[in-house]
Amino acid sequence: MSILNALYIVATPLGNPGDIGRRALETLAGVDVIAAEDTRRAGRLLGQFNISTPCLSLHEHNEAQASARVVRRLQAGQSVALISDAGTPLISDPGYELVRLVQAAGLRVIPVPGPSALTAALSVAGLPNDRFVFEGFLPPRPAARRARLEQLQGEPRTLVFYEAPHRILETLRDMTAVFGPQREAAIARELTKTFETVRRDSLEALTAWVAGDSDQQRGEIVILVHGASQAPGETARVDIRALLAALLPGRSTREAVALAADLTGEKRNRLYEMALEIRET
Ligand code: SAM
Repeated sequence: MSILNALYIVATPLGNPGDIGRRALETLAGVDVIAAEDTRRAGRLLGQFNISTPCLSLHEHNEAQASARVVRRLQAGQSVALISDAGTPLISDPGYELVRLVQAAGLRVIPVPGPSALTAALSVAGLPNDRFVFEGFLPPRPAARRARLEQLQGEPRTLVFYEAPHRILETLRDMTAVFGPQREAAIARELTKTFETVRRDSLEALTAWVAGDSDQQRGEIVILVHGASQAPGETARVDIRALLAALLPGRSTREAVALAADLTGEKRNRLYEMALEIRET
């Protein structure tokens, strides 16, 4: 294959090296330089395929300067590939600024498509995928995360989220509270790797499963949530008791009651009584 004076956006495996494509290998071997999110990790991947193309570092903290350097190389007639740590660059990964800059300089950007956790998870979750919404990472702070989930409560398309393992449980609890305990969802963990796990169930059941098995709080995780089934504008009918039961662990009764009152419009007194009953059982 002939390598052009262009920036190639090259997808790399999520975990299983066998998922690298032939065109990706030829591109990585043929370009003058590879811009990589983590050059050491890139070196390990390239070493597995005996590729010795030099790497330069392009990550979220140096993207502006590194992109300008890449553009200068392209203007000098070189070819460059961009790779991220895993999967497709720019999908919750650096590269957006670089692509814009290269295009603004009148130079070509060529995709070499391949693995992405987004499409891999959608392909096995068993949730509707004719239309979906990719939300990437939720805000890490609890209040901002819940606010974002509340904005998505009535979204009818399947929702796809990336999540860090140390936040999986709190995110599932918030999803249960906001979307309702019975909303169907799926977790796709460690895709293409040894401990690959895919499970679809109600949000309530998934939360209990993850809470009861610390192995499920490790590795790389995609959460997918079935879209809302009600017509837009219609209020979701939730099982208030189940909602409260999902909110109580890890929160004071007062906090859980306040949250449930905000979410359902139910009277605080009634919710408080219900919370005490739940705590007693
Ligand atoms: N660019 C990548 C892609 O195309 O999927 C995503 C990069 S993003 C920084 C990393 C997140 O992707 C992880 O936190 C996880 O949510 C998801 N992810 C990456 N590899 C995964 C895997 N093997 N199994 C499940 N999720 C994965």
